[in-house]
Amino acid sequence: MPSEFELIDRYFTGMGSRADVLTGVGDDAAVVALCDDTELAVTVDTLLEGVHFHPGADPYALGHKALAVSLSDLAAMGAEPTWVTLALTLPAPDETWLSGFSRGFDALAQRYDVQLIGGDTTRGPLSITVQAMGRIPSETALKRDGARDGDLIYVTGTLGDAALGLATLAQGVTLSDEDRHYCLERLHRPEPRVQAGMALRRIASAAIDLSDGLVGDLKHMLSASQVGAKLLLDDLPLSEAFRRAHGGQIDWSLALSGGDDYELLFTVPQFAWARAEHRLADLACHATCIGLIEQEPGLRLKFKDESEYNLVSDGYDHFK
Ligand code: ADP
Ligand code: MG
Repeated sequence: MPSEFELIDRYFTGMGSRADVLTGVGDDAAVVALCDDTELAVTVDTLLEGVHFHPGADPYALGHKALAVSLSDLAAMGAEPTWVTLALTLPAPDETWLSGFSRGFDALAQRYDVQLIGGDTTRGPLSITVQAMGRIPSETALKRDGARDGDLIYVTGTLGDAALGLATLAQGVTLSDEDRHYCLERLHRPEPRVQAGMALRRIASAAIDLSDGLVGDLKHMLSASQVGAKLLLDDLPLSEAFRRAHGGQIDWSLALSGGDDYELLFTVPQFAWARAEHRLADLACHATCIGLIEQEPGLRLKFKDESEYNLVSDGYDHFK
């Protein structure tokens, strides 16, 4: 069966050739030229009941997450979010649900001074689509295709917490109440790395947000940039809650291919790493160097002793 990405490639890539489309299909958001000094970034994402969230999920958290995942794509481009539209398909006009959803959505929108300017409301199985737009100073967008041999690979925050949260819901992985709460917050209320993305303009050589899992998303960047990479597993940033789970035995597959992190993965030329770390430290955003871009194609997952880790799954694909 073709993958989600093969389908996009086959049927929706390379349509049209307008000169004002600077980045089309294939990045976290499209970028179009508006005027001399400003470009517009546009992205759209759908959350479906039963696929992206469980039936009966808290509407306030859904309102937050629906907006957060789109803002995360703008962050990955270094864009400043400005306007959003919302397409909602609802099984019934449930006003209790709508009140919670709209409050969760609006609380996040207000924090980033993003305004809802339109949308569409229809009846059917619950589905939430958010389109987000943002501004970028011309020629400063962070794209997936700029990683070069020798660049350092960084990731913000910690990896795998949301996937662990999902695992506790699905398979009943046992965590302390506090750790469980932390992981579920990470799953239900991701914080888009908007300020970090903007701070990395003119510093990062490439960026992508982590929605489908570190390895799968890194591979998108590697293929767009036509390079390979080495990841150092011992250096992956893992939360205390994550390290305590599974009786202290680290579940590498969750950290490497678990989805829903919504952290930024970015590359920095070696001469600029100190600038990148300072800028992010000013924002109280922690970023960790986890590997190196190499000329040799492919991804190598290594432990300190140079032994290699063999991964079973790259990350989430809707058709796998
Ligand atoms: P992300 O996870 O960053 O939101 P996706 O993996 O969903 O990105 O999509 C990969 C790329 O393919 C993006 O540039 C997206 O805009 C594009 N894309 C996905 N589906 C379609 C479609 N049906 N038509 C056109 N472009 C699409
Ligand atoms: Mg993305």
